[in-house]
Amino acid sequence: MRLIVVGSGGSQPTPKAGCACRVCTAARRFGGRHQRAGPSLYVHEGAVLIDTPEEINARLVALDLAPQAVFWTHAHPDHAAGMRVIEFLAQARGRPVRGYVPHELYPELMRRYPLEHMARRGWLEVTRFAPERPLQVAGLRWMALRHAEEEPIYSYVIEGAAGRVLYAPDHYQTLPVPEGRFALAVLQVPRLPQAALPAPLPPTHPAFRRFKAWEAVLEEWRGKTDRLVFTHLYEAIGLLPEEYDRLARTAGDWVGFAHDGMALELGEEADPLALFEAFRARQEEIARRYAHDPRRMREEMRKLLADPVYQRLKKGFRRGS
Ligand SMILES: [Zn+2]
Ligand SMILES: [Zn+2]
Repeated sequence: MRLIVVGSGGSQPTPKAGCACRVCTAARRFGGRHQRAGPSLYVHEGAVLIDTPEEINARLVALDLAPQAVFWTHAHPDHAAGMRVIEFLAQARGRPVRGYVPHELYPELMRRYPLEHMARRGWLEVTRFAPERPLQVAGLRWMALRHAEEEPIYSYVIEGAAGRVLYAPDHYQTLPVPEGRFALAVLQVPRLPQAALPAPLPPTHPAFRRFKAWEAVLEEWRGKTDRLVFTHLYEAIGLLPEEYDRLARTAGDWVGFAHDGMALELGEEADPLALFEAFRARQEEIARRYAHDPRRMREEMRKLLADPVYQRLKKGFRRGS
């Protein structure tokens, strides 16, 4: 299973227009990992996108992705307000995008966004489904988990031959955490330790009510997942990417923080040969795709070599040679 964190931001993007905070200032100055679009995840198998934040069109362009299906977690703007991208994707392919929506979420998405308009124009083909009934999409099994909230809010379990993935980008505190082991959990960032923050939170801060604590979430997932990646990284937390990395290192190498464009691959620990084959396949894909544009081809090859998923492979080559 191959996944890409399309956007790793929280309810507001980084940088924000007009904001002079250290995180937004660094994002304007350095770009790259400092910039965070609204939270969404792309799954290569079936070309499935989870959520359409406001900046989704620009993010899909930047990553050269063209999803053919979309799931939504909930109707908040940082997860759904960029829905019009469906119009562009459908026009580009000349066929409708498939939209998968839990029954209870449908009226909420319809009330707030042009869901019905897009269906009427033939750009979107909606399948409404019951969360307790898993869906099969391109060989993967998708299951929606309903959060214990009045509003319809969902997380997704995606299951394939390489194992199970949980994508729970928001409202983690109200998620009924499923039983059993996971290969990967991509979760909403918890309340971080006070010592890690640029300024400690006052005891009345809403984060104490709305978020589980860092230690509690690590405890909950230790031994339950091979890899834990935190996303929905709020600009308001005030941390820079290297500060997130430092904090992750204190937890161990199974924990990390997401960044926009982060590639996540399942099964590479178990099978280095499969990782090598995936690497070769991507090399060939790039060579084929940019055969008429050598500059772009070189640039894409460089990006591929820098992809953290394949760093292990490079180390292995060096050891082996
Ligand atoms: Zn959100
Ligand atoms: Zn800011």
